[in-house]
Amino acid sequence: MLRSHQYYFAIALSCFISLFVIPPVLAEEVVVYSARTERLIKPMFDEFTKETGIQVKYTTDKEGALLARLKAEGRNTPADMFITADAGNLWAAAQAKLLRPISSEVISANIPEHLRDPNNEWFGLSIRARTLIYNTRRVDPAKLSTYEDLAGPQWNKRLCLRTSKKVYNQSLVAMMIAEHGEEKTEQIIRGWVGNLAVDPVSDDTRAMEFVAAGRCDVTIVNTYYYGRLMKKDPSLPLAVFWPNQENSGVHVNISGAGVTRHARNERAAIKLLEFLSSDKAQNLFADVNMEYPVNPEIAPDPFVATWGDFKQNPINLIKAGELQIEAVKLMDRAGYR
Ligand code: FE
Repeated sequence: MLRSHQYYFAIALSCFISLFVIPPVLAEEVVVYSARTERLIKPMFDEFTKETGIQVKYTTDKEGALLARLKAEGRNTPADMFITADAGNLWAAAQAKLLRPISSEVISANIPEHLRDPNNEWFGLSIRARTLIYNTRRVDPAKLSTYEDLAGPQWNKRLCLRTSKKVYNQSLVAMMIAEHGEEKTEQIIRGWVGNLAVDPVSDDTRAMEFVAAGRCDVTIVNTYYYGRLMKKDPSLPLAVFWPNQENSGVHVNISGAGVTRHARNERAAIKLLEFLSSDKAQNLFADVNMEYPVNPEIAPDPFVATWGDFKQNPINLIKAGELQIEAVKLMDRAGYR
């Protein structure tokens, strides 16, 4: 048994000691919900942790599931950052008040204006180009020119398209509405539908397989699918054509990210975004999926570079979101299924 003076001495001593014991430093971390698969994000996160000591925890799922989760969790969400493909999806997250505006000079300098939200709630981190792929045995590329031209009689029964249900096509048509207005865009889409060789197909790869097999001659796809297909079978009679080089440029979209409305680690999340837009991460982010860096200072992957340079459409991608519903209705009216 301690005598009372010893007891008080023990308490005093332990208080004294505790003044000098440094509390454990909580490791800084950032929590990411990502619709981009683990394979496409982990290398960047590892590099970021190596450089900054900030840990990255992440959950990957389909964008719909992650959005529903962010909504349901509300202010209790552990997520600081949301990553997904397509400006239409990022815009939807911002509309649902799931993201917060941030300001960073580093990000503004690294990411061109048309590839980020004017309200600074989301930012493009890689570019996906939605371009024309044609059958090299059946099409003289000199006959190709623009997306709009694919509506003309020269392409009757020669076109394949992916389904209009996919956000990639909804964004493409939304951006066409931004450029041409509804009336002209509807004429173009009607022309496409009239030129279809087969009903719209389920995905970009299938559309290219149909082109390669001669069931149609030309299609519109994201180039990374072309890259994957050609790596698997370089003998396929397919090639890239960059349309609209004399006018509006190639339709581009992004994979990107935003800081969540209820982020607890905003500072770390901004640091991660800055890192992802930097020289060091830009190649990693773009190259793992054969996409293009958003940062114009950075060259694409050598294999991707063999497809040539192209001029991109400079209209701000927020239009892909703002006009998405109009685009869906328009495609429906035009009979594009
Ligand atoms: Fe995709």
